[in-house]
Amino acid sequence: EAKAEGRNEIRQYSGELVAKVSSHLSIQGDLRRALDNNEFQLYYQPKISTHDQSVCGFEALVRWFHPVKGMVPPDQFISVAEDTGQIVELGTWVLETACEQAKLWLDEGLVTAKMAVNVAARQFKEKNIIDLVRKVLKRTGLPASSLELEMTEGVLMADPNISNIVAVLRSEGVSIALDDFGTGYSSLSYITRFPIDTIKIDRCFVQDITLGSDKAAIVSAVTNLSHTLNFNVVAEGVESEEELEVIKALECDEVQGYYYCRPMSADDVTEWLKNRQAQPVSVISAN
Ligand code: C2E
Ligand code: MG
Ligand code: MG
Ligand code: MG
Repeated sequence: EAKAEGRNEIRQYSGELVAKVSSHLSIQGDLRRALDNNEFQLYYQPKISTHDQSVCGFEALVRWFHPVKGMVPPDQFISVAEDTGQIVELGTWVLETACEQAKLWLDEGLVTAKMAVNVAARQFKEKNIIDLVRKVLKRTGLPASSLELEMTEGVLMADPNISNIVAVLRSEGVSIALDDFGTGYSSLSYITRFPIDTIKIDRCFVQDITLGSDKAAIVSAVTNLSHTLNFNVVAEGVESEEELEVIKALECDEVQGYYYCRPMSADDVTEWLKNRQAQPVSVISAN
């Protein structure tokens, strides 16, 4: 009976594997077509200062508008694109498009804040990312000081050479943010070893945070050490006023989350920025 059970498990497991591989293959083929047909679009989500509610930056987040499936969220295709290497082509498009958009907003006087772009490990391995960033900044005319690259701890850990690359980019004025902090290999001492500008505390610590909780203790420790090291601290995924109040009390510098804004298309951001400009700061409400 044990054997039969084992066989069942194997059958079930291989069934899942087949499903996974075939969905992987279909996404891979779909991605090829999507890259050729420009089915991607960037959305942008603002980061808001906890000190004065000003817009401190935007994060570019890729969206896939699939002709049949509709909008496919990045969680469903970024990891496939990383496995296949297609992330290199997609990531280059994301960087160019985000820098182009940031320059437009800068020229219109709508934004002075940084544009943040997510970068995957594979982009460091397969492309000279320093040259790519230089080329894109030159072509779009965006100042290096207006660009921030977001990477997870996994990316920084992947290869010791990455911290050298990061140091070169920073010396040229580009900022570096450590994304999803707390979900990876992180220990507090670990962050002292990397040359970065910003720590983004992962949403899992922010969700339902209350004063005096374990989450609050962690956020407070990370924030204090970050400030000692001169890092800027962003809380990701703030959805409620209650969370915002705790995050403020713990002295995080910026928040990003649905409480203020969901990621928006470039046109919607432009409108949102113009409305904000037209209002005195005190009456800006969350939407
Ligand atoms: P991330 O870089 O940590 O981006 C933040 C994610 O949190 C985004 O999900 C954003 O929409 C979501 N978010 C923001 N505020 C809230 C909130 O209040 N509540 C909740 N529940 N979620 C919130 P999104 O856009 O689905 O992206 C997911 C992940 O996909 C990103 O996580 C990033 O790792 C990856 N990704 C997105 N765009 C790119 C890209 O252009 N290149 C690469 N390499 N990865 C990307
Ligand atoms: Mg990010
Ligand atoms: Mg994140
Ligand atoms: Mg994430």
